[in-house]
Amino acid sequence: MNTGLASIPLGRVRGVGVGAHWSTVVAVLVIAQVVVVSVLPQAAPGHSAVVNWIVGVLAALIFMLSLLAHELAHALVAQRLGVGVERIDLWLLGGVSRLSSSPRSPRAEFLIAVAGPAASAGLAVVAGATGAALAAWDAPALVVSPVLWLAITNGVLAAFNSVPAAPLDGGRLLAAAVWWRTGDEHRGTKVAAVAGRAFGVALAAFGLTQVLAGAVSGLWLMLLGAYLVVSSTTEQSANEVRHRLGSVLARDVMTPDPPIAPGWWTVRTFLHSLTSGPHRQVFPVVSFDGAVAGVISLAELVRVRDPLTTRVSDVCRALAGVPVASPDEPLLDVLARTSPGQGRDVVLVLRERHLAGVIGPDDVAWALELAWGVPISRHEVTA
Ligand SMILES: [Zn+2]
Repeated sequence: MNTGLASIPLGRVRGVGVGAHWSTVVAVLVIAQVVVVSVLPQAAPGHSAVVNWIVGVLAALIFMLSLLAHELAHALVAQRLGVGVERIDLWLLGGVSRLSSSPRSPRAEFLIAVAGPAASAGLAVVAGATGAALAAWDAPALVVSPVLWLAITNGVLAAFNSVPAAPLDGGRLLAAAVWWRTGDEHRGTKVAAVAGRAFGVALAAFGLTQVLAGAVSGLWLMLLGAYLVVSSTTEQSANEVRHRLGSVLARDVMTPDPPIAPGWWTVRTFLHSLTSGPHRQVFPVVSFDGAVAGVISLAELVRVRDPLTTRVSDVCRALAGVPVASPDEPLLDVLARTSPGQGRDVVLVLRERHLAGVIGPDDVAWALELAWGVPISRHEVTA
């Protein structure tokens, strides 16, 4: 799941970058406000607003730390099972762990998913026991009540995340179970996504009835429900793409023998040749010995100040900065590394240092569209 949010780095835990999006501050304030308004006045009455807010913000910060512990539990189990973890981010609606690869077995998917709710449930038990011990020792209610509140919220977190609906952890457990029963990973993810959309709609509808009944807190349920619907739909389309393009190789979708820019030509000569040539916007640049030297776009060529004396190879982007693939590489691996931008980039498909073809945005779009109609696996037919 990718929220696409820029986040402020907080540090690293076992090589995993941890960050927080600015909306985490909103989450801390809202949670602190809940503690100040709904918990402390009943559980520990008689304190000033300043004292209540200090306790409320502290409780909210500890709650965010327990969210982080939940995500770290996912990440550390994933690492143990050989699944890479890119980073963990906190944001308005909780935490997100970004895995750099997918679990390779239903067992791995199950263990990674179950680690989060298990950590939250564990924290709930620890906080509950601590709260009970503090109460037994006659600690002030101002200390006991936030600790017990932390126990309850972590328990709710564990329970909510266990609902079998994507993108919640319970959705991953459901996907793992279906995958294990049927041997079909794609089907597991699909079932969890459908459940995710249904649960999201139900949650948002319940939130709406709350709002109509005058409870503003229903807005949070509506927001969360909408997030679940969007997120499970996105996950499902990514899953569909993975499923349909799973066996497609770079050479199946590349445009073979694309028009090239001879590096030794002047920019002027090359631009002139384009008036009668194919309407391409990005060109692989080839040196005199036939090896690929880099890439240049039409936009870059027309900006050259002295096209009469400048050679194409002098202004092209060098190979080191250009995405490159081998013909037998799976397309999904190529797309995971780079997504070619319209009119600017192409992925060069190289056999040794020689050009076999290019993959541009149009080729990717073509592959996606065709895959919806017929499974693309040209290499299975021709190879
Ligand atoms: Zn989780």
